[in-house]
Amino acid sequence: MTDQPETFRCGYAAIVGRPNVGKSTLLNRILGQKISITSRRPQTTRHRILGIKTTDDYQAVYLDTPGLHLGGKKAMNRYLNRAAGNALTDVDVIVFVVEGLKWTEEDQWVLKRLAESRAPVLLAINKVDKVDKEALLAHMAKLAELADFKAIIPVSARLGENVEYLEQEVVSRLPLNDPFYPEDQVTDRSMRFIAAEVIREKLMRRLGQELPYAMTVEIESFKDKEGVAHIDAVIWVERKGQKAIVIGKGGANLKEVGKQARLELQQMLEQKVFLQLWVKVKEGWSADERALRSLGYSDD
Ligand code: GDP
Ligand code: MG
Repeated sequence: MTDQPETFRCGYAAIVGRPNVGKSTLLNRILGQKISITSRRPQTTRHRILGIKTTDDYQAVYLDTPGLHLGGKKAMNRYLNRAAGNALTDVDVIVFVVEGLKWTEEDQWVLKRLAESRAPVLLAINKVDKVDKEALLAHMAKLAELADFKAIIPVSARLGENVEYLEQEVVSRLPLNDPFYPEDQVTDRSMRFIAAEVIREKLMRRLGQELPYAMTVEIESFKDKEGVAHIDAVIWVERKGQKAIVIGKGGANLKEVGKQARLELQQMLEQKVFLQLWVKVKEGWSADERALRSLGYSDD
């Protein structure tokens, strides 16, 4: 006899799909708190991030991934596809997220990549708050023909509609196991990492298409002084002109981004935050694998 748990389930579920379909929003919804940043811009998520949900009956470890996307010769694109592709091996179940009534060439390409994994695939059709229900039924019937999906589940990550049902479908496919992580752990990422991500999210939302693609945020120091979190962060860009865009007229962009990031970090940390932002130029880092690694884009 072993002391294997009789009914407790624990395992990994990868959340995959092309950029911007709502993968990170879905993960935050499942966890009931924000760990992964979201925005209207594709490729908001650059790193693999774990979201861990533990109940009395199971521990589901979700991997949020950068969207798998076509093409890309630059080191950053290669990195993003690698990080997303790695998530497909060794998971127990895959949640393939698509959006509304769409089925694009990129969705098709992701589906092809999923064949590399032996895990069962659940198809989540997100953003159904935006679509006509009858059209959705017809669309679901069409998608069912494309592959051997174990379930096709319409959800709204934004409103939380049907997300619990999706979770049940995930959990029922996890193996019987003891928990891998402590029950109070929600992510594998540090608060330092999440702080940098929150700043990047506010930049993406403020600057939209204007924001240089090659922009990253690095936390230089994160210290607690008498109950106040002091955070110094550098926003790295590749050219002087980009620096001016990020700073904005009279510093307006930087000021607003700093304010929004500070307010959100205060809520997450439940303490006062003192945030200082700098913008610095480092030429050509996004095309250079070594520079990427030095800024935290490692493959694990
Ligand atoms: P990701 O790139 O797949 O991680 O996508 P994000 O989670 O960053 O979301 C991309 C955009 O879609 C954001 O603007 C979200 O607010 C939006 N979004 C996500 N889920 C929903 C949803 O259920 N309904 C609607 N209407 N929008 C959503
Ligand atoms: Mg994302």
